[in-house]
Amino acid sequence: MTANRRPRAYREVSVARVEVPLTAEGLTEHFLGRECYRRTRYVVARNGDATALVGVEPADPEPLFSPAASVEVLALPAETVYLRLPDVDTGVPSQLARVAAGRRAARAVVVEGRYSHVSFLLDPDPLRVRVCEVVPPHPPKLLDQAQRVLDVAEDLPPMVLDPDLVELEALAPDAAVVLLPCRGAGVRLDGHEVHYLDERPPERDWMLLGCSRSRQLHRWFYGRGAPGPDTCPRALASGSGPLLTKCCLLEDRTEIDGDVAVVPWGASLEQVKQALAALARRHDPAWAPA
Ligand SMILES: [Zn+2]
Repeated sequence: MTANRRPRAYREVSVARVEVPLTAEGLTEHFLGRECYRRTRYVVARNGDATALVGVEPADPEPLFSPAASVEVLALPAETVYLRLPDVDTGVPSQLARVAAGRRAARAVVVEGRYSHVSFLLDPDPLRVRVCEVVPPHPPKLLDQAQRVLDVAEDLPPMVLDPDLVELEALAPDAAVVLLPCRGAGVRLDGHEVHYLDERPPERDWMLLGCSRSRQLHRWFYGRGAPGPDTCPRALASGSGPLLTKCCLLEDRTEIDGDVAVVPWGASLEQVKQALAALARRHDPAWAPA
């Protein structure tokens, strides 16, 4: 069984109202030898509210229409849902994956979405990617960027993000005086005297709540290292499976290390997309950008 089967292009799907019973025999008998458009590879067959999914191969793909030489019944009504969701762009695999995630009982999720286009995801098994980063800010920047990329990526396979967020406050050291990398991050630390490294304050006996890069800045400013926890998401990430995270020490390149993709701190949407593409390729070498 091939997971995540879906049309390669909108024109491969046709919708047909039929009067025959939506059984394997009924569908095969109805569509075998029936004229179909040269680009049609899938038929969403509907009878009343029932829906089935059928694969077809035209005998000759050259003329505009040709009799179906083979018919493959892909999903019967008991395992198929038909949803009208005008906000869903059915050309974006991850949007279909998100719909399918809410319909786990269905093998075939057929969606009539934006522009009334109809498409489907058969045997959904989206690649789950954990996104590890530190909050605040809210929304978490990398998670938000990655979701925005997936929301429009027509050339990435279906993917779902699992947030793995670390509250910066939870890492706060048990010290009276704390140094944060910058004032802009919106971190609240009640019960601490807080200073900000980017303001280069007069030196105190503080603990630094920051990443390796801010430790380097501290050494540059004050000529010594700073005690305190490392807050770099790359250092905090644990567990296994595909992971997207970021690192304070990467300035302009992305690192792929096994199932882990690490983008620079200020990654562009394009870099985030390339990182997701690298994880997808690793998970399924057969998948490659069109
Ligand atoms: Zn780092």
